[in-house]
Amino acid sequence: MLQLLKKLFGDPSAREIAKLQGLVESINALEPKMQAMADEDFPAMTARLRQQVQEVTAGLTEQIRALQAQLDREADDDERRHLRQQIADLRDQQDESERGVLDEILPQAFAAVRECSLRRLGLRPFDEQLIGGMVLHRNAIAEMKTGEGKTLVATLPLYLAALTGRGAHLVTPNDYLSKYGVQWMGPLYDLLGLQVAVIQSQGQDPSLSSFVYDPAYAAADDRYHHLRPCARAEAYLADITYGTNHEFGFDYLRDNMVQDIGQCVQRELYYAIVDEVDNILIDEARTPLIISGEAQESADSYRVFAEIVARLSEGDDYTVDEKRTTVTITDQGIGRVERALGIDNLYDEANFHLTPYLENALKAQALFARDRDYVVSDSGEVIIVDGFTGRLMYGRRYSEGLHQAIEAKEGVRVQRESLTLATITFQNYFRMYRRLAGMTGTAETEAEEFRTIYDLDVVVVPTHRPIIRVDHPDVVYKSAEAKYRAALQEIQERHSAGQPVLVGTLAIETSEMLSARMRRMGIPHQVLNAKQHEREAQVIAQAGQPGAVTIATNMAGRGVDILLGGNPEGLARDRLRRQGIDLESVDPDVWKTTLIEAEAQCRADREKVLQAGGLHVLGTERYEARRIDNQLRGRAGRQGDPGSSRFYVSLEDDLMMRFGGPAVARLMDRLGADEDIPIEHDMVTKAISNAQVRVEGHNFDMRKHLLEYDDVVNQQRQVIYDQRRLILTEVNLRSVAWDILTEALEGWTEQFTQGYEEDWQLEELHQQVDRLVHLPSGHHAQDWEGRSRDQIIADICAHAQVTYDARENELGAELMRQVERMIMLRAIDRHWVTHLTNLDELREGIGLRAVGQRNPLVEYKREAFDAFGDLLDAIKSEVATMLLNVRLATPQPRPAVRAQPARDGADSGETIHRAKIGRNAPCPCGSGKKYKQCCLLENLTPEEALAKGIKEGRVQRQAARR
Ligand code: ADP
Ligand code: MG
Repeated sequence: MLQLLKKLFGDPSAREIAKLQGLVESINALEPKMQAMADEDFPAMTARLRQQVQEVTAGLTEQIRALQAQLDREADDDERRHLRQQIADLRDQQDESERGVLDEILPQAFAAVRECSLRRLGLRPFDEQLIGGMVLHRNAIAEMKTGEGKTLVATLPLYLAALTGRGAHLVTPNDYLSKYGVQWMGPLYDLLGLQVAVIQSQGQDPSLSSFVYDPAYAAADDRYHHLRPCARAEAYLADITYGTNHEFGFDYLRDNMVQDIGQCVQRELYYAIVDEVDNILIDEARTPLIISGEAQESADSYRVFAEIVARLSEGDDYTVDEKRTTVTITDQGIGRVERALGIDNLYDEANFHLTPYLENALKAQALFARDRDYVVSDSGEVIIVDGFTGRLMYGRRYSEGLHQAIEAKEGVRVQRESLTLATITFQNYFRMYRRLAGMTGTAETEAEEFRTIYDLDVVVVPTHRPIIRVDHPDVVYKSAEAKYRAALQEIQERHSAGQPVLVGTLAIETSEMLSARMRRMGIPHQVLNAKQHEREAQVIAQAGQPGAVTIATNMAGRGVDILLGGNPEGLARDRLRRQGIDLESVDPDVWKTTLIEAEAQCRADREKVLQAGGLHVLGTERYEARRIDNQLRGRAGRQGDPGSSRFYVSLEDDLMMRFGGPAVARLMDRLGADEDIPIEHDMVTKAISNAQVRVEGHNFDMRKHLLEYDDVVNQQRQVIYDQRRLILTEVNLRSVAWDILTEALEGWTEQFTQGYEEDWQLEELHQQVDRLVHLPSGHHAQDWEGRSRDQIIADICAHAQVTYDARENELGAELMRQVERMIMLRAIDRHWVTHLTNLDELREGIGLRAVGQRNPLVEYKREAFDAFGDLLDAIKSEVATMLLNVRLATPQPRPAVRAQPARDGADSGETIHRAKIGRNAPCPCGSGKKYKQCCLLENLTPEEALAKGIKEGRVQRQAARR
């Protein structure tokens, strides 16, 4: 049917490719001109082309930059929306004019890459590769079979994109492939005059995580040949940057967690080519990227606050509203808490981190009752009681530290929480690129998903040589054991005949089981688990040697080329290494002779392998998706090599058992007798592909589902990250801070002035405002009677202004600006993290509500929306509170206050010494003067003052105590 339709309407890929054929001719026509160029002409040509592109777009780029700067400074929401729209429009224009000029110079650029590739890599890109490059340039997915040379193909559009100066990314599934890609293609970029860099995961050694390619650089370790370590940001400033999907994604998230704009490493997300695109955008898209951390809270603090709060009395120290939903601490209460902690001012900048503990301890104390809201189990766990059903909700926890506060109140173990600090799906990360393209050997079966989720078309590029691989039909056994027996027998036969065999498995356990059996049978072999990419790449590169047997799980060694007869370079390196020769300082002549010898051997071996029928791929199980099976098969028969493939299946395989349906079960029953005779039955083949189609559909749904949920967070993430950027980039945040402050004040006023005027709670409002704004002593709630809400707000704001100015005078403008930035960032980060963690919980919990015939996604959207509103309010309110109460803090090491607020008396003198020193307290150095008139003037912290006193021998033991 499909074939027929294709005949009627023409295969879309074929039509697309016919269009590109003309361009191939133009590129070919430029070849003599390129051949005539000297090496040093190429960088000059690159510079010229770059200028040509940038001249066309310079005006727009400048306008966008100016608007972006304006946006970074603009605080008004409407104005921001407007600016953003303007920028979006300009960007579209920019893209269009850029596309025009890039299309125009494409033949010249591609011809240059081809010539440089031949000169530096010894490879002349085939016409098919040029076509693949054009498909990528058109922001589509090029399906090109394994071994067609996609690594080289990518350099063509990357070069073209790099001419824009906006940075181009090549994304690979593992660190090894990015590093190797840069090392292999480096000389080509170098001749063209481009800088190329690679980012690696920052796991163990951050100094080995970013490099630029530098042919003059001698690395200490030959695995880092020509890679000069550099800063992360420098790697992103290169013309082209290689790296994994994980690292690009994490860098994006990390950039949105920095405290200083100078710490950001990425620039615009302009163009990305994703290699092995089906793996990255489909298989890996099921799990989002998450940066998580353990909550930085201390169990001690929860306990300390629980004790302090237990001594406060309701009415005097705190008040609870009638419905018992909110608890408010009074001035007297604050005083008692401050004294108990031994601090001057709870709302001091150095004590920001303490307020949440206090809030939670109060809530736990006043609002939550044991055996009504929660129970304490015998094992000391606090379990929430569902308010409606009375059921115990095992495993659920109150969020934002409340659960811990209750644990502390009950004297049971305080459990740490893991927090979601930042998260994004690969879908949403990659959709942020202005231009996205991809390449892989197997994309066509997933064309629909690429289209709907990523707006990417799949174009099948013809192979350079016809494929002559023989794909044998599946053999099906009744039992798994019989299947493995038969498979092992085939492996042994082919191995003895000198044919290399690649054995594919789904699970590491299967690999290990087969390995153990092969050892017993005396078949030498290698096992790859996709764990140590670098080592495994060396192994699989040699999987084409005569008689080699390699067992690999499906991702292992993906992207590494298997040459029949083996890889001469790897062989040469191996030999030298074994002779103890350092590859970074090897004599070039020695290298050359060794390589020539290795090449000769590989050539001879290749002949042997060709005689034996090329590489044989043996699959021990069908995978859930046809695509992965095709991927495995595709390892054989590269570039017109001979080769073959066969899958072994049993009715006991997971896929059959779970998705084979009743047909397979019936078949099982009907088949009697001999296990070792394979079944040839149409029904089985059909059952397999039916099952695969079903699972593929199911998995697609799951990924769509994940995305629908992430889209909700995505919008919110955009807003928060925008705000963060604004705060980081804006030089003077005073107006932003003031706006937030007034909004918070308006919010409170509204809250207390609901309904009829006689119902307004002016007294409460006055109390609340007074705590923040510190209204003058003659000011009373009665002053507001008879006034409109707006008038009250105006009055409050006027007083707030006075307080704010006073703060600023106290701190000085410069410090005040820093404090504003810090307060805002902290408030955003703290609440955003809580919000993310809550959304995770909400999503987990919402599935249960689907029972009530409500659409969980709709429910989730609604609740997430409400929660976001609350989040913004909470941020505003925290910023307001902090801004008005911040005092000049003597520089304090934070842990000191947090660790042990003067709890256990005399013995722990050291800790108490470190307790907060008031400005008017005696100086810790023991001079007898007030701290502010002594060491503080010299800018010493209490610790430093103490140390100074000790050195000068004047500290009396009591001196530092209050
Ligand atoms: P893919 O990623 O498509 O599986 P690779 O980029 O790993 O393929 O390249 C496979 C092999 O093809 C490599 O050995 C490479 O040297 C070879 N190759 C690529 N392009 C050419 C070319 N134009 N001429 C000759 N060999 C090529
Ligand atoms: Mg590849």
